[in-house]
Amino acid sequence: MHRFLDLQALNARDEAELTDAFVRVLRSGWYVLGPEVDAFEREFAEACRVAHAIGVGNGLDALTLILKAYRQLGRLAEGTEVIVPDNSFVATALAVTEAGCVPVPVEPEEDSFLIDPQRVEAAIGPRTGAIIAVHLYGRLADMGRLRSLADRHGLLLIEDAAQAHGAFDAAGRSVGTLGDAAGFSFFPVKNLGALGDAGAVTTQDAQLAEAVRRLRNYGSSEKYVHAVKGVNSRLDELQAALLRVKLRRMADDAEQRRVLAERYRAGIRNPLIGLPQAGEPAASHVWHLFVVRCGQRDALQAHLHACGIPTLIHYPIPIHRQAAYSELAAHALPIADRLAGEVLSLPLYPGMPEPLVEAVIDACNRFAGHASQAESKEPTCH
Ligand SMILES: *Cc1c(COP(=O)(O)O)cnc(C)c1O
Repeated sequence: MHRFLDLQALNARDEAELTDAFVRVLRSGWYVLGPEVDAFEREFAEACRVAHAIGVGNGLDALTLILKAYRQLGRLAEGTEVIVPDNSFVATALAVTEAGCVPVPVEPEEDSFLIDPQRVEAAIGPRTGAIIAVHLYGRLADMGRLRSLADRHGLLLIEDAAQAHGAFDAAGRSVGTLGDAAGFSFFPVKNLGALGDAGAVTTQDAQLAEAVRRLRNYGSSEKYVHAVKGVNSRLDELQAALLRVKLRRMADDAEQRRVLAERYRAGIRNPLIGLPQAGEPAASHVWHLFVVRCGQRDALQAHLHACGIPTLIHYPIPIHRQAAYSELAAHALPIADRLAGEVLSLPLYPGMPEPLVEAVIDACNRFAGHASQAESKEPTCH
């Protein structure tokens, strides 16, 4: 059985440089917030063409610290509503509740999987303070329309950029600059992945950047002087040094993912399988995941498994259906419900072996659905 994502092979591409980086940090005697973090923040900010990048412990903290910093700056209050897509990883909502605000889940557009600006507008009320747009599966949300909505209603617009490192919009603007602030995750499986947990906040706003810097380090800008109640969410030197090596591949990896996505989009021809849209322009999609739709999703997954093709579901339970968010259970979100039952992620990563690419296309094209498999209960690869 192949792997859904071969992290070992991905990181083996840089083994010599990653090892050098490790040895450099080992011998430096300095392990948390230091010259490697400073350099990575500079280099990541440059890659995103953004004024400020602040390294933090993980992607959830990046989003949480943005919201907490806005609370300290008086831009959000306890109980303020924050609009989030219902079809996202739970962290998008957790950041909102962690910051003492209230998530309001909104439906995606059926054909793009991205938060629907029209439904966002309908969800805006007197207590709304912010919108979090998730660039789901690596494709930029419609930031133009969301920005004008946010401006019209005096709302903050925040990017959950955990899946979209290196994406650019039609005007050549980078992910991380398309809202008031953005949260990135460098969890190992993300398009830019560390060898452990790591994250970053990007923003053009110097005041917000300073507030996030302070919050991540116990609310302190000066040792043992604590202006606010902060947390410990620092980026360590080792992850920063490793990320500096991997950052050099970010643009090329995005291009490799686009090439593979086009292979799938051209090669998979099966009326039972709905293909994801390309980005418009191509640079606006970095294909963190290649997600197809199928009315017989579980049968398709079993068929692919029988063919030796690993797949995953992102995500099987929408946020408003999670036990952790029982307070949201009364929301009617039928599109998010339907997608949760139909989406399936196919393997796609830079350097993916050619035989696997062909095997995925071939196995998808041979899926015949329930009808033909009625006799044999076992899924087959025929
Ligand atoms: C991965 C992810 C996060 C959280 O990042 P962590 O580093 O795992 O905390 C948040 N939002 C989305 C959409 C993600 O995919």
